[in-house]
Amino acid sequence: MGRDAPTEEKSSITPRDRNVTFERGTEFVVPYVEENINRCRCPQCPVQADSRCVQDKIRSSKEAMENAPAGEAPDPENVPGIYCSEGTATCQDLNFDRQCICESCEVWNEYDLKAAKPNNHFCKHGKAT
Ligand code: SF4
Ligand code: SF4
Repeated sequence: MGRDAPTEEKSSITPRDRNVTFERGTEFVVPYVEENINRCRCPQCPVQADSRCVQDKIRSSKEAMENAPAGEAPDPENVPGIYCSEGTATCQDLNFDRQCICESCEVWNEYDLKAAKPNNHFCKHGKAT
């Protein structure tokens, strides 16, 4: 019966649950905007780590973002991430057996994607809805 001390993960969920009711039944639409692209953790994810296609896109999308007018997001096809917003990856050489790290992403937290479907491996399962 004794309650264990809450883990870090559990205690971070509690305050969020208080605000969640007004979002029930709505869609989890994550905007495809520069701020979210920059916070996306997919470029660091083990699922993509050995993908040549992804590594190329990381390089080229960085350049594209640097050269684009401020606030303008690059073509989603060229960005190897933010799959929670844009859906499945275009690169074919990902390793989906590895763990998704979306749970450590600020975007995931902000949009409460834990409660979305799917809520992980968006690169494989498609965008959060
Ligand atoms: S939740 Fe996952 S897919 Fe969405 S921005 Fe964060 S790391 Fe990228
Ligand atoms: S959606 Fe998840 S599994 Fe896919 S690349 Fe992003 S962090 Fe990795």
